[in-house]
Amino acid sequence: MHVFYNHCGERRQVRLGKPQEQSGPLRCQLCNELILTIDVDAARPWLESQVARKRVLSESGELGTRKQSAQQSDNEIDLDGLSAELAACALLCPGSFDAWRTAAESSKGNRGQDLRRLWTSLNKPVEVKFTRHYDEQRGFLLVRPPRNTPGRMRVEYIDDSYYILMVGCPPEYSAVGWTDRSHLLRVGVLNPVPIQPGQRECWGMHWSTLRPMKELFDQAHSSGPLGVIARWFADLVGG
Ligand SMILES: [Zn+2]
Repeated sequence: MHVFYNHCGERRQVRLGKPQEQSGPLRCQLCNELILTIDVDAARPWLESQVARKRVLSESGELGTRKQSAQQSDNEIDLDGLSAELAACALLCPGSFDAWRTAAESSKGNRGQDLRRLWTSLNKPVEVKFTRHYDEQRGFLLVRPPRNTPGRMRVEYIDDSYYILMVGCPPEYSAVGWTDRSHLLRVGVLNPVPIQPGQRECWGMHWSTLRPMKELFDQAHSSGPLGVIARWFADLVGG
């Protein structure tokens, strides 16, 4: 599978899942800057097949609805969400794409860790959030209560993960920023967007108050063989 990015006036193809060639996040081959926008059009057949598979699971009652928007169908929401997650994997850990893909093809839900520590080399798992539109008013990173929990939004529902906000619409997605649990609790607010009928409460923050993507790798990157073993172990025991 491959994706494309534009940088330094050139359009480049990235073949995903080449661990030797691609450790760490995706960087421009010419200027070495972090790439933040990616075109996933070439992955569309795979994305659509996964959405169809989830639809079958959902109709058989094994998956709940993801419906969070009155204007969009479940299929569109699933396609957007999975496209954004694939884009995040391509940007943050292109060399671990095959492992992500295997997990995506098998899992029914992996709350709190869309991207595992071993894949990103970060010290916490990454949870990918997505919104189509972002401008002065719109574009919030939102955390909602897990399924099968009662009542109001609670602070315990915010995971000890890095939350990354992806924006855009097919085929182009961008990472606009990140936050973690303590920053999100400090800066975020309860219900920053109106609750639609049938929706749960949420906690969230506007994209403009997120931290820059570059900082995530400058601050949270831990490397070396001990780090690899620690992350492998942490992934294994969960969380
Ligand atoms: Zn460049």
